[in-house]
Amino acid sequence: RKAAAQAAAGEEGRTRDGLRIEVCANLGKRSEAAPAVASGAEGCGLLRTEFLFLDRASAPSEDEQAEDYTAIAQALDGRPLIIRLLDIGGDKPAPYLPIPAEENPALGLRGIRVGLAQREMLVPQLRAVLRAGAHGPVKVMAPMIARVDELRSVRAALTAEAASLGLPMVPLGVMVETPAAAVMADALAAECDFLSIGTNDLTQYALAMDRGNPAVAGSIDGLDPAVLRLIGLCCEGAESHGKWVGVCGGLASDPLAVPILIGLGVTELSAAPAMVPEIKALVRALSSQDCRALALEVLQVSTAAQVRVLATQMIEGVG
Ligand code: PEP
Ligand code: MG
Repeated sequence: RKAAAQAAAGEEGRTRDGLRIEVCANLGKRSEAAPAVASGAEGCGLLRTEFLFLDRASAPSEDEQAEDYTAIAQALDGRPLIIRLLDIGGDKPAPYLPIPAEENPALGLRGIRVGLAQREMLVPQLRAVLRAGAHGPVKVMAPMIARVDELRSVRAALTAEAASLGLPMVPLGVMVETPAAAVMADALAAECDFLSIGTNDLTQYALAMDRGNPAVAGSIDGLDPAVLRLIGLCCEGAESHGKWVGVCGGLASDPLAVPILIGLGVTELSAAPAMVPEIKALVRALSSQDCRALALEVLQVSTAAQVRVLATQMIEGVG
């Protein structure tokens, strides 16, 4: 399997019956981009920009951000780069962010809520993203969206900054990390360019289990049928507006989840860099029709254990 994975590195992600599935890497710093491409990543489906913002006394300037995003776009050499807007807040504090301690940080000021409340954080980042867009196919996405209004506010800010810089817009995506966003995916898809499912947060919020609480974190399972039904709803909603759906959470790196996600309608998988060769080789061994049949089956079962049995049969079937 290792050899097959290496051999697939230079090929494109496509099921054996011809469905194009982009296999990308999640990146968390500049130096990871070139090695990810070398191991077969077809782009970056999630740039976690927190690396620029944490462990420092003040926020990075627009110029500093533009330089980093541009360097990453250049290292990707024409491949897509999806930059996630800052996702810090109560759970990942920065000393210069005036967010008081919260009793429930997972339900508090985090993700896009921070940027919308503190425009001095959001605006320089949007401008830096737009500037990097001159150097490659850059897209931007907003974390922790729960309502269409939030998407509208981000789009308005992005449009205003593009006009002020005299630069073209970049495509704007929504991260589906709240059950509300999954359920409202059709309404969101009507007003965004793509959706990317953050299965780590989507799972924690669907199951109401805190990722950071050791008493429950071990029971969090992205293959829970509740999560898979939300992903299915999200794909249906996006499809009704002709928008594509990616997965950038941990499920995209889980071989058992990959055929299910493809069967539900996901067409981009952004995995941990080390998993890219294996995930791409797996995609190339799968039949999208079989994935579809598997997805329909898992939507009927009631436990994660049953999902695992069905997915394991499928994976064993492709060797
Ligand atoms: C997710 O929630 O699945 C995700 C990709 O974002 P993060 O893990 O950075 O919260
Ligand atoms: Mg998240």
